[in-house]
Amino acid sequence: MALEVHMFPCLSDNYGFLVHDPASGATAVIDTPEVAPINSALAEKGWTLTHILNTHHHFDHAGGNEALKAQWGCTVVGAANDAARIPGIDVQVSDGELFSFGSTQAQVIETPGHTTGHIAYYFADDGIAFVGDTLFALGCGRLFEGSPADMWSSLRKLMALPDETTVYCAHEYTQANAAFALSVEPGNADLVARSEEIDRLRAAGIPTVPTTIGLEKATNPFLRPDSGNLRETLGMADAGQDDVAVFAETRRRKDSF
Ligand code: ZN
Ligand code: FE
Repeated sequence: MALEVHMFPCLSDNYGFLVHDPASGATAVIDTPEVAPINSALAEKGWTLTHILNTHHHFDHAGGNEALKAQWGCTVVGAANDAARIPGIDVQVSDGELFSFGSTQAQVIETPGHTTGHIAYYFADDGIAFVGDTLFALGCGRLFEGSPADMWSSLRKLMALPDETTVYCAHEYTQANAAFALSVEPGNADLVARSEEIDRLRAAGIPTVPTTIGLEKATNPFLRPDSGNLRETLGMADAGQDDVAVFAETRRRKDSF
């Protein structure tokens, strides 16, 4: 039986996600941005919280861990290499590990860059990935604790997932990301079309999350350091094989956009 994902807004621009395995009744929340909307979502669905799957330690991702654990007695899962910063952590996971969840399993993908201990969860049987603040629709996370090379290698791991993979990112940043993306790759027709679609969705109050790996590879400038048009705009037409340098310059420009 397929997993059911229920997505809902938290704080000002975060998304909360419940993942429910109907076969076993297991229910996980991906990160804990805000306790009240998570509890409302659980009540609405009639689900019992069994797991918290943390992507990283930031307050808008792990701030509700302790309250939810006290209330539900759920198991808190997080990165082994960042265990000291994940409140209430019970199960420590590392890169490549398969974490068993109900009748299925999630593959742990270490994606350092935004923080040193950031991880993503990939449910291969269902083709869905929760990528926290590593990859956004048309964007990527800020480099608070990692180098451009760290983040680029993390993004490449996500790009290696099947194109049809459904990608749940943790924030609704897409419209602002689109404005930046258009400024650096104006000649990308797929990006122009997507940006118009995003404006239409946001005007109607509709989320732009989830996205897919294929769509991001076609339109997200942070996944496209080999794009001739992007390199031209950045003045890096002669960057050769140096995708990291192009990625780094793209990230640097976004920081001051
Ligand atoms: Zn974060
Ligand atoms: Fe965040």
